[in-house]
Amino acid sequence: MTELADTDFTQRFIFDDSDTRGELVALERSYAEVLAKHPYPEPVAQLLGELMAAASLLVGTLKFDGLLILQARSEGPIPLLMIECSSEREIRGLARYDAERIKPDASLADLMPGGDLTLTVDPTIGQRYQGIVDLDGETLSECFTNYFVMSQQVGTRFKLFADGRRARGMLLQQLPADRLKDEEERAASWQHLTALASTLTADELLSLDNETVLHRLYHEEQVRLFDVQNLRFRCTCSRERSGNALVSLGLEDAQQLVQENGGTVEIDCQFCNQQYLFDAADIAQLFAGAGVDTPSDTRH
Ligand SMILES: [Zn+2]
Repeated sequence: MTELADTDFTQRFIFDDSDTRGELVALERSYAEVLAKHPYPEPVAQLLGELMAAASLLVGTLKFDGLLILQARSEGPIPLLMIECSSEREIRGLARYDAERIKPDASLADLMPGGDLTLTVDPTIGQRYQGIVDLDGETLSECFTNYFVMSQQVGTRFKLFADGRRARGMLLQQLPADRLKDEEERAASWQHLTALASTLTADELLSLDNETVLHRLYHEEQVRLFDVQNLRFRCTCSRERSGNALVSLGLEDAQQLVQENGGTVEIDCQFCNQQYLFDAADIAQLFAGAGVDTPSDTRH
């Protein structure tokens, strides 16, 4: 199977002599699609890319059908970063930011002071799960590592980098004791693998292919790299969902909104900028329960 030159994929690897799994992610096309929707300043684009990389890695880690939502919030220059990635491996994202307060080389602490990071797993069937961690690491990588240490008590390391063009990430995670049953040996092996991972630089991860990255870090280990799994950008907004949002306002408020807006309400998707337009006749139809008509008046 050769789907050549796909730029967006995750790839798992395992170590033959350690109870440790790993995963690498590379995103270009989907990252470009997310960035194309808004004129994000560089530090925002960078954090969005790192969060996209994290979401892609997490979707591979958490076995579920449904949606994974990552939301970083603060009262600083970046009030919100949000990424959604489905188990179908379709990803979208957005950020809210105050361009005037963003300095070019600002750190995570400058951009999102006192913030937190919420991880939500919304499965197609079953209970929604949510976990929260403070955004008090120096980098998003550190925050995700902290999240797993605190909430899951599973040894986990994240390396996340993005430069506005490419978003890359690496994950290492401890598996239950199997190959190494002795506690000390197990701890030493984890320590060794994570110490090597910590030497990986942004330049290396952003420019090298997966084989080369693993060779540089782990040429003394037996590493097995599996097939790639692709991801792509996709927005799940629709005219029907936008119509439902109007219905939830109630008939009077929806009619009033149409009037106030010169006869047409415009609902914009913040993820993809798609605009959905509704006039008085559309509103009447929505509330008559006739559903949403064909999107003849939808424009980009
Ligand atoms: Zn959309």
